[in-house]
Amino acid sequence: MTTTATTPAPLLQVTNLTKHFPVRRGVFSRSSSYVHAVDGVSFSIEQGETLGLVGESGCGKSTTGKLILRLIEPTAGAVLWRGKHIEHLGASAMRPLRRELQAVFQDPYSSLNPRMRAADIVAEPIRNFESVSQKDVQERVASLLDKVGLRRDQMVKYPYEFSGGQRQRLGIARALAPRPRLIVCDEAVSALDVSVQAQVINLLMDLQNELGISYLFVAHDLAVVEHISHRVAVMYLGKIVELTDKRSLFAYPQHPYTEALLAAVPVPDPKIQRKRVILAGDVPSPIDPPSGCRFHTRCPYAFERCRIDEPQLKEVRPGHWAACHLREARVSA
Ligand code: SF4
Repeated sequence: MTTTATTPAPLLQVTNLTKHFPVRRGVFSRSSSYVHAVDGVSFSIEQGETLGLVGESGCGKSTTGKLILRLIEPTAGAVLWRGKHIEHLGASAMRPLRRELQAVFQDPYSSLNPRMRAADIVAEPIRNFESVSQKDVQERVASLLDKVGLRRDQMVKYPYEFSGGQRQRLGIARALAPRPRLIVCDEAVSALDVSVQAQVINLLMDLQNELGISYLFVAHDLAVVEHISHRVAVMYLGKIVELTDKRSLFAYPQHPYTEALLAAVPVPDPKIQRKRVILAGDVPSPIDPPSGCRFHTRCPYAFERCRIDEPQLKEVRPGHWAACHLREARVSA
């Protein structure tokens, strides 16, 4: 998980990333408590790699994406881009990096300017970051629309004239326009029909193969990240509870929360029976997260130690990290 002098730095590395939002109450808006949205998250993403970041709504995965994009300031921790700290860079120092770090959001309609035509939406980041002739901009826009499967005659249309899937393709074309190295896809296919989801995921994978882009693919559904991800990190109440390659996660889940998420993923072969894990209750409040293991209030295997001791993320199989006392016991046995 750490970078040594002999290994090249990953494209992106986050270490102990933390974001606590103050909860302001009363006439003087004093902050009496904090929402522990992200609490000491660490991972890296290599060039050309997709890391899936999965968890229920409110677990901190979208906040993690915003911290990486520097849309919000971290409370603590580091964000390293090609080995250089960027977590405290000012707006002007961040500007060249904005070109390399792009995003595709869940609702393509609200993230596209409704008063701009498709051509201008895609051209805007090119004009913002490069001084290129109008002719070159037009050629780049046309080629980007080709790449994402939109027709050139659709360049003059406004966002409302596209279907949901086409709008998401337009959002992807806009994200690709400044030639980024990493795209944070924040629930980028969650609002789309299943068949359109598959088309957009295949498109993102084709673009990765062609352009070598990396993705942080944020989703609440493990089934969605299965196809696109190389590795998957599972988040619960602001913490990563499991992190490994996709195959290991689906074949040998090590954390009870991952087991529960996997139990909800449909299996195409009726002969394969997945272990049923029913989660009790709702996600606890991130303002006052449970002591010890944050999952203990819903975990079917919780025992006394879980209420007191917080499990650390440890390598429980080669390349497979999990934060659960049960796995620690198995490893040390
Ligand atoms: Fe469940 Fe305990 Fe493991 Fe937490 S540490 S996931 S409560 S068994």
